[in-house]
Amino acid sequence: MAAKSLSLKQAAQHIEKLRKEIKYHEKKYYVDNDPQISDETFDLIVKELDKLEKQFPELITPESPTQRVGEQPLEGFPSVEHRTPMLSLDNCYSEEELKEFEERIEKIIPAEKIEYVAELKIDGLGISVIYRDGKFSQAVTRGDGFRGDDVTLNVKTIRSLPLLIDNTREIEVRGEAYLPFQSFQKINHERSGKGEPLFANPRNAAAGSLRLLDPEKVASRNLDAFLYSIFIEGKEESSQWKNLQILKELGFKINPQSRHCSTLKEVISFWNEWQEKREDLDYDADGIVVKINSTELQKNLGSTAKFPRWSISYKFPARQATTKITNIKIQVGRTGALTPVAILKSVKLSGTTINRSTLHNEDEIKRKDIRIGDTVLIERSGDVIPKVVSVMKERRTGKEKKFTFPPICPVCQSSTFKPEGEVISRCVNPSCRAKLRGSLLHFVSRRAMNIEGLGDSLVGQLLEKKLVKSIPDIYSLDYEKLVGLERMGPKSSQNLLEEIEKSKQRDVARLIYALGIRYTGERTAQALASHFKNLESLASASLEELIEIEDVGPKVAESIVFFFSQPENTGLMNILKKSGLNFSYKEEKREGKRPLGGQLFVLTGKLSSLSREQATEMIEDLGGTVTSSVSHKTTYVVTGDSPGSKLDKAKRLGVPTLEEKEFLKLVKKD
Ligand SMILES: [Zn+2]
Repeated sequence: MAAKSLSLKQAAQHIEKLRKEIKYHEKKYYVDNDPQISDETFDLIVKELDKLEKQFPELITPESPTQRVGEQPLEGFPSVEHRTPMLSLDNCYSEEELKEFEERIEKIIPAEKIEYVAELKIDGLGISVIYRDGKFSQAVTRGDGFRGDDVTLNVKTIRSLPLLIDNTREIEVRGEAYLPFQSFQKINHERSGKGEPLFANPRNAAAGSLRLLDPEKVASRNLDAFLYSIFIEGKEESSQWKNLQILKELGFKINPQSRHCSTLKEVISFWNEWQEKREDLDYDADGIVVKINSTELQKNLGSTAKFPRWSISYKFPARQATTKITNIKIQVGRTGALTPVAILKSVKLSGTTINRSTLHNEDEIKRKDIRIGDTVLIERSGDVIPKVVSVMKERRTGKEKKFTFPPICPVCQSSTFKPEGEVISRCVNPSCRAKLRGSLLHFVSRRAMNIEGLGDSLVGQLLEKKLVKSIPDIYSLDYEKLVGLERMGPKSSQNLLEEIEKSKQRDVARLIYALGIRYTGERTAQALASHFKNLESLASASLEELIEIEDVGPKVAESIVFFFSQPENTGLMNILKKSGLNFSYKEEKREGKRPLGGQLFVLTGKLSSLSREQATEMIEDLGGTVTSSVSHKTTYVVTGDSPGSKLDKAKRLGVPTLEEKEFLKLVKKD
């Protein structure tokens, strides 16, 4: 339909239809986790609406899905009074304390049978959102419980929150805005790339995001929200459980794990269950919230000055622990980056023994005043490497030693260089052993040349025995050299040589990635390979030519030109070519090697023979995708030891599951 020919009335009708469609798919995607159409198709519908609205700007309303992300920067966040205080919750940490909570209630209202609703306590930020006439109208942070900040335009970017609801009464909903682990890690990864300080945990990152003055930036952070309470003007439901169902019916995202419990015993088993399974969640939960189900009983019980008497939070054991820093060591990576690592007195933290923690960089050590011998609070969130949260300075004895960051590379003793405005020092020696070791490990890694059997300890031995002095030396290894090495028998030596031989035929995209050119990740390597078709053309490409390619910015282009202008790199390429490595692009072969193309995998529980990361790599190598939650679209759920709720969901949805053995069979290489 040519939009030009539409009358205002026709346009209005068409716009209405598109908005409804978008609302439906947004809910399916963001709330129900059950997308019905591809992202591309969805984007097309949004684009169509956007185009039509631009032609008929008088039809734009603040609730249109195109208006989620405001373009104007905010001036600040006016303070707003809550209509009823958003009280915080009393905490308890043991079963005894929880039983005391019930006893206190029984004293006030004897002879009543008490039922509960148990909900996960999401570690995010309390928010209140008001709808008027069925329209998203205002969002306020919890603040001090009485007054909060008006963050309407920022909360509006949360795609799981409906902008329109099917109820015209004045409605207030409350819930927790939070950052899923995946978004949290992405944000920190970007910050670390820019040398910006990292967020300590998802909660801090969510708080920081809600207070950004640029809604477009907030939108890019991918905040989400679970709602848990609702107040409808002039209408009250009889229980918390019903309230949750009403929220769901209106299109809000409620936490799917919430449970109606007839006794306190059931509440306790809910806690026990999630205490163990919380590592499986895509977000941080630091305990459960226990609520009396009956609204009438809630009213009878009322509140103290600080807490409601009808609700309490029962915390999980902390993911934090205190321990001592026994030493600080410097690791030198492939790019020559010097990273300080704290060696810790072993400590158990949510089931894992921790004995080291990253200190990120020199500035971080200075900022937190971390010294050798300090007692520190460490924290682990999700799958992230543990880090030092703070130093317990009150425990200092005076014997702690300040750490002096070495001015030279601890591996090769060359000088280091820290570019203006960056926080990371790097070793300047191009043939530094640590760099070579890192480069070799990168070159042979699964996503690069994928030489199986050439792991950390073997690379160490090869370097030590000077059997390998540069990357191409891998291709001149022979049986005699290998067989005498530690843990290298005749069979494993033969196998390794076969793997090395096989790697010569890999696609050039892998080779480009394997070279470890700065800023050139897998995706860029792929784009370069498909554009230039072979390594020689890439090596002689000009800056202008490179910038033309999608996915290649000026920084990447400069880095590539610099790499190939270095004589040692040209030499390296010549030797690799002579060794018989494939330098050309083989698109068709790559396609044929994607037997899991289009398949969606979800991992749950602990696998015994490989880490989650390794399993993910294997799936992705074969063209499959790993997602964090189970939906109708999931092809397989791979289950390890003590699988979590994802397995339950798979069973409910009838998604096939694979045990470790079956999974290994599926991904077994040719
Ligand atoms: Zn060095």
